[in-house]
Amino acid sequence: MENIRIQDDLYTYVNQAKLEELVIPDDMPTAGGFATLSTEIEKLMIGEFNSMCESADYPNEHMARACTLYTLAKDVKRKKKHGIKPALKNLAILKKLGTTRSFNLHTKELILKGIAMPINIAVDANMKDTVHHCVMIQGASVILPDVSYYKNEEQRDMLLGMWSGFAKQVLAIAGHSEEECDALLKDTLAFDALIAKYAKSQEEWSEYTKMYNPMNTGRVAGMVKPLNLKKLLTDLFGFVPEEIIVTEPRYFKNFKEIFNQDTFEMYKNWAYVVTLMEGCGLLSEELRDLGGAFRRALTGVAAVSSAEKYAYQLASNMYSEPVGLYYGEKYFGEEAKKDITDIVKQIVATYQKRIVNNDILEQATKDKAILKLSKMGLKLGYPDRVEEIYSKLVFDESKSLFEIVYSLRKIRMEDNFAKLNKETDRTHWAMPGHMVNACYDPFVNDITFPAAILQPPFYSINQTRSENLGGIGAVIGHEISHAFDSNGAKCDELGNLNNWWTKADEQKFNKKVNAMIKQFDGIELPWGTVNGKFTVSENIADNGGMAVTLDIMSNSEGVSFEEYFANWARVWCQKAKPEYQALLLQVDVHGPNCLRANMPPRNFPEWYDAFRVKKTDGMYLAPSKRIVIW
Ligand SMILES: [Zn+2]
Repeated sequence: MENIRIQDDLYTYVNQAKLEELVIPDDMPTAGGFATLSTEIEKLMIGEFNSMCESADYPNEHMARACTLYTLAKDVKRKKKHGIKPALKNLAILKKLGTTRSFNLHTKELILKGIAMPINIAVDANMKDTVHHCVMIQGASVILPDVSYYKNEEQRDMLLGMWSGFAKQVLAIAGHSEEECDALLKDTLAFDALIAKYAKSQEEWSEYTKMYNPMNTGRVAGMVKPLNLKKLLTDLFGFVPEEIIVTEPRYFKNFKEIFNQDTFEMYKNWAYVVTLMEGCGLLSEELRDLGGAFRRALTGVAAVSSAEKYAYQLASNMYSEPVGLYYGEKYFGEEAKKDITDIVKQIVATYQKRIVNNDILEQATKDKAILKLSKMGLKLGYPDRVEEIYSKLVFDESKSLFEIVYSLRKIRMEDNFAKLNKETDRTHWAMPGHMVNACYDPFVNDITFPAAILQPPFYSINQTRSENLGGIGAVIGHEISHAFDSNGAKCDELGNLNNWWTKADEQKFNKKVNAMIKQFDGIELPWGTVNGKFTVSENIADNGGMAVTLDIMSNSEGVSFEEYFANWARVWCQKAKPEYQALLLQVDVHGPNCLRANMPPRNFPEWYDAFRVKKTDGMYLAPSKRIVIW
């Protein structure tokens, strides 16, 4: 082991031994931290599913369905018997569409069948009036993980070539001749290139308030011709809403170039190929392997996951809330829930105090920030009931797995469309209880901490208070900070897009945001370069999470900063395939784990005091460059 000093590299100092011993499983891109916890929960729940299936003793109807789906998805012989046929049957409708005119007669059907479309429609909370829903319209997705991959021609051609190789094998299984395969793929890549020209990059999506572009429906209908938008909306909703939200204005401005009578054949072939590839996981094992091969290559994963693991992931995803509730009730005690509630309340109170003392905001803005904090909803552990939709997720067991899952997705889509005229449900949980993650929902103004993350190293009744503050405490502070990051600061206490800042406040705030972008931008890692703008919201949140928990630490007796910082570094411990790290740099708004561990501390005096960090140390930052926002 190398002789690393904590003052130079907190992350490696703390995790060195663990990183040497960690082994990345063959079917995963990472190990350690979040991944290890998720794998453990998965193992535990697969055991639960197996024993429920064996005894046929289910806690409720939802879990009975989840277990049935699990059993069917695990049955490789059954899937082999159905082969590729169910997917081809679903795609047969495309053959009937000769022109855009006939396409327009079937757009609703195409959507409900899960066939790739040049536009995507969904109902979501209206960002300016989050009590009500609105219709959102979005473009199609590109084949590669992000449009940024298309900028470098060499990389683009290499990756699309690799993808085409797998697609060709799938098309051959579907019965296409060599020439047919080549023609289908040529069209697919040509249509993909049209989309890539105008689709948003992940960096653009990360400024999510820019999704809100309300437009008169008549105007949008004119932009997407020859697609008959008004007919489609009438079919979906029974009427034409006056206004819709265009999330990708550039794509729709240029829509006519992407989709028209001349590109229609191309669209059809693209839709056929990408939809077929997307459904492979639900077909035979051979097809599941081929369908996931590109993603595995991109992330450096060596092997396809077992049929059992895949079946569990599918079932726990389709029935996520009932599975999360089952996990939470069985494995997360009331005592832990009470303890964690106390920690959250203390963090909120400390945040409030810090806003009062904040030097960038004027009084009126501070009052609004405090109001926003006081109205923040807390969802800790797991919900006390499952949503109504789960009673509708019933399926015909005699059908193929493909047909079952597509029928369940259809029910979910119909349920989503039916929400348009209903008020939003603020009691909805954004994450299920068995998920190792946490989030802040800017359009509801609430935080969600599923039971699964409330475990060591994040949290334990048996860990010291300092460790819990460096672990779950800082993560709670992180999520709360999202209410005040460069996106969240644009929404008010009800989650409505609403500017509650004065000009002067905004200027001071943006200066700090820019400083944070600079702090990360251009950092070179073995797998690529960090994009400071893309990751700024997460970096502000990490900084805020640390500021508020260090404040609590500094005002408490008998705490240990060594334990605090060590556990902060421990939660980010991760061994990952370099291919995966490179992918994350392009598609993940979070910075790389080693930076999440090592960058925030150097902004705080507690770090320098705890370890006597000096100018000559690796994790020293000149006082003029240190940033604390919240
Ligand atoms: Zn975050």
